[in-house]
Amino acid sequence: MHDMSPHHPRYQSLLLRDKMAKAYQEGILADTALIAHGRGEAFDYILGEKTNLPALNSIKAASAALLLAENPILSVNGNTAVLAAEDMVKLARILPAKVEINLFYRTPQRVMKVEEVLKKAGATEILGKEEDDYFPIKGLEGPRSRAHPEGVHRADVILVPLEDGDRAEALVALGKTVITIDLNPLSRTAQTSSITIVDNVVRAIPLIIEEISKLRGCRIDELEAIVHEFDNQRNIDSSLQLIAQYLEKDGK
Ligand code: ATP
Ligand code: MG
Repeated sequence: MHDMSPHHPRYQSLLLRDKMAKAYQEGILADTALIAHGRGEAFDYILGEKTNLPALNSIKAASAALLLAENPILSVNGNTAVLAAEDMVKLARILPAKVEINLFYRTPQRVMKVEEVLKKAGATEILGKEEDDYFPIKGLEGPRSRAHPEGVHRADVILVPLEDGDRAEALVALGKTVITIDLNPLSRTAQTSSITIVDNVVRAIPLIIEEISKLRGCRIDELEAIVHEFDNQRNIDSSLQLIAQYLEKDGK
C-alpha cells in the first residue's frame, strides 16, 4: 500500500485501487481489468459510494431468487476474485452454490491464479478450471464462451458480477435467471440481466449474505412474491434518477 492516511476522503476507494494494481502486477488480472475497475469507480463516485435504495431492492430480489434456485451458480471473474473472494466463497457455502471461474480474457495462467485466490479464500469445489470439461455457450465464440456442464450450463440462477453484455445476453437467451452486480446502470449487462444490482461488489455481496439469512425462514410463496414483484427496468431507472439528482446537486 502506498503511504495513505485512513483519513484521506478517498481512502476506501484507494485501498481497492491498490489491491487491483497489485493483482495486476501478480498476473491475476489483465490490464483491461484495471480499465473496467476505473469505469466502476466513476459510477461509484456519482452514486455517492454507498448502497442506495434501488440496490437494496435488487439485493432482496436477488437473495430470494438465489434461495429459490435449484442449481445456483456464482460466476467469478478476475475483478470479483480480487475484490470479494472471501465473500463469494461464504455466499457459496451458505446457499449452497457452486463457484465457477469465468474470465473475459481467459488465459491458462490467469485461470490458475484466480483459482489460487479462491482456494486461499476457502473455496473447496471450483468449476471452470483450466483442465475442466466445458461446452460453449450458444451464441458466443472463443474462450469466453466456455461454461461448465455442471455449472453455468446446469444452473437455473446465475450470480455473475461484472459480466460482459454479450455473455449476459446469451445466458438470458438460454432461459437462465441472471443476477448481476454492475455499477453502470447503462451497461448492456445491467440492461439485459434479470436482476441488476447497481452497487460495488465489495458492498453488495456482504449485503446479499445478510439478506439471505433474513429471508431464510420465509415460505416459498413469499420468496416467489418478492421475485415476482421486482421490476428490473423500473429499479434501474431509479438508479439513473439518483445519478441525475446527485449531478444536479453538484454532489452535495
Ligand atoms: P457491457 O459489456 O455490459 O456493456 P462494458 O463493456 O461497458 O459493459 P465492461 O468493461 O465489460 O463494461 O465491464 C465492466 C463493468 O463492471 C462496468 O460496467 C463497470 O461499471 C463495472 N464495475 C467495475 N468495477 C466494479 C465493482 N467493483 N463493482 C461493481 N461493478 C463494477
Ligand atoms: Mg463489455
